[in-house]
Amino acid sequence: MCQWCMKHGAGGKWYMNAKNYSNELADSLLAREYLTEQWRNFENIYIRKIMGFSSIDLGYKLQMPIIGKLLKWNAEKMIHSDSKNRKAVRGDGHFGQVIPLEDAKVILGNLAAEPIIENYCMCRWMQRGIKECCCINFGQLSGVIEKLPRFIPQNLQYKISREEAIERIEKHNKRGYIASVWFQPVPYINAICSCENPECGGMRLRSDFGLHTVYKSEYAIKVNPDKCQACGMCVQKCQFGSLKLVPSLKRVIVDPMKCWGCGICRHACKHDALEIVPRESIPGLRGIY
Ligand code: SF4
Ligand code: SF4
Ligand code: SF4
Repeated sequence: MCQWCMKHGAGGKWYMNAKNYSNELADSLLAREYLTEQWRNFENIYIRKIMGFSSIDLGYKLQMPIIGKLLKWNAEKMIHSDSKNRKAVRGDGHFGQVIPLEDAKVILGNLAAEPIIENYCMCRWMQRGIKECCCINFGQLSGVIEKLPRFIPQNLQYKISREEAIERIEKHNKRGYIASVWFQPVPYINAICSCENPECGGMRLRSDFGLHTVYKSEYAIKVNPDKCQACGMCVQKCQFGSLKLVPSLKRVIVDPMKCWGCGICRHACKHDALEIVPRESIPGLRGIY
């Protein structure tokens, strides 16, 4: 289990704790006000400014010997903040974790608070200029987003039932989009995204600046060498370059440090040679999220 499970998981995974989806928790955190402020200013928070800092030359600044360490420490503190003084316009208290399809289905089927909506992905809009409807939001965030027309698809049904939400996440996942679940603000959970790397702002902040805006999943992939037929189909599916076909071995091998445990590669395997296993069951990956 990651440190967020220890803190907010009540003995299990943080995103499997029903309390973190409740209206009572949202009200106690003034989530509606926080989310309104955050989503009204989304582009300013995550593009022109990142965690309160100007994004211009941020990579360079973060590499400076002392100032860089201080900036990074401060940014991590903001991202993971559960303080009453956190500011939505800095993106405080907002981070997520990659999850496999199985866990996304449990959340949407049982835990997510209604109403549920599916709206435009802001990362793809900000980074590629395209509007794609693939972010599933729920609970108090749904009502906040509905009041902001630029996030709402015009020709698609965006208010969806639990069953429709499960169908949609399954479709996105099989297409190769990575499921992720989000605190906003910590520890209130109200979103399951379907991301691509590196368009996802969270993954971008992690890969470019080393900031923990999104964590690897609680799982990692395992290849069954007896079943693998070395077709190479899974290699093309992995967005993190963690699978490699080795012709002399007649199978794929995994670079475990690169694997995010999203489980997407499994959809490509016709030989049932890939499975996800708990990250903690692999000694070299324990504690690495
Ligand atoms: S986190 Fe993923 S799905 Fe959500 S807005 Fe960003 S890329 Fe889109
Ligand atoms: S190898 Fe790991 S990171 Fe790559 S698709 Fe499979 S589970 Fe995801
Ligand atoms: S898709 Fe399955 S059979 Fe093909 S290389 Fe990957 S693990 Fe092996």
